[in-house]
Amino acid sequence: MLLLPTGMVAPTQRTLPGFTLERPTSTVAAVAAGASPGAVYAQGCSDLIAQFREGLSCDTLVSLERVSSLGAIEWDGSTLEIGSGVDHHAGSRDALVRAALPGLAEGWGGIATERIRRRATLGGNLMARRTRYEMSVMLGALGAELDFETPQGPVTVSPAALWDRTEPPGGLLRAVRVVDVPQVWFGYERSMRPLLTVAAAVRADTVTMTVGSEYTRPFTVAAPLGTDPAELAAQLPDALGDAAGSTRYRRHVAGVLLRRLLERRTFEKGNPR
Ligand SMILES: Cc1cc2nc3c(=O)[nH]c(=O)nc-3n(C[C@H](O)[C@H](O)[C@H](O)COP(=O)(O)OP(=O)(O)OC[C@H]3O[C@@H](n4cnc5c(N)ncnc54)[C@H](O)[C@@H]3O)c2cc1C
Repeated sequence: MLLLPTGMVAPTQRTLPGFTLERPTSTVAAVAAGASPGAVYAQGCSDLIAQFREGLSCDTLVSLERVSSLGAIEWDGSTLEIGSGVDHHAGSRDALVRAALPGLAEGWGGIATERIRRRATLGGNLMARRTRYEMSVMLGALGAELDFETPQGPVTVSPAALWDRTEPPGGLLRAVRVVDVPQVWFGYERSMRPLLTVAAAVRADTVTMTVGSEYTRPFTVAAPLGTDPAELAAQLPDALGDAAGSTRYRRHVAGVLLRRLLERRTFEKGNPR
């Protein structure tokens, strides 16, 4: 008999425990299938493959590929709603996203590799809950709302709930929503990745900064517009530091990158697209 202690020997396709494949075509059917014990959702599978190698097993794999509504992007002039099944390539190039939030389109357009970008989805990026993935950093600064469908009904949470683990267990992430978009300027800096990345949103007279890093969950701080970026960065919690970079150094870098983003905003305001 072949013994495979999880975490010591990476599983291969041959050693994967069997599972049932479900292919629902509606969110209602997907929620029902996802609610069964041992069920796992699958979109582009770019992270799921790694999870299986890390020891994940499931009784039912619920493929969301045929739930076409998850691929929708909607814009009503104020609210931008992006389905969880939108892949990085399509989402970042979408005309509605580019017109409504050019900074998000640009930031989203810079993540992952070309091959991965064409199958990896927004929903998978968020729900994999890996600190090195970037969409929760961008959406955190934007104050986005994550809409879940659950057997008990719809639930809306903030991106921070993914890390606080207060999102509905087993819920299907349906879409991500950003409200009052015309009031927002957004920019994203990933030049210091993996040390840290910085997302900044300016809404009315407030600057909101979310800082992500390889090993720690994203942190969000806010202050009135005009506050010195270094002062805002000083509000980041001590937990921002890790073995790869002290809290002091990360606060310093976050302040520098925020200043760069705010300078870009000033330039863009003077040179509207
Ligand atoms: C080579 C490589 C480079 C990468 N580089 C970057 C990078 O630079 N920046 C970055 O941010 N990311 C990067 N990634 C991560 C990539 O963005 C994610 O793997 C991808 O977005 C996951 O999406 P997916 O559709 O493949 O999800 P899947 O692998 O299908 O699923 C991931 C997780 O989400 C759950 N899930 C999926 N959809 C839903 C849903 N609708 N509701 C509830 N749960 C759901 C699944 O059950 C699973 O746990 C990289 C990945 C690879 C392989």
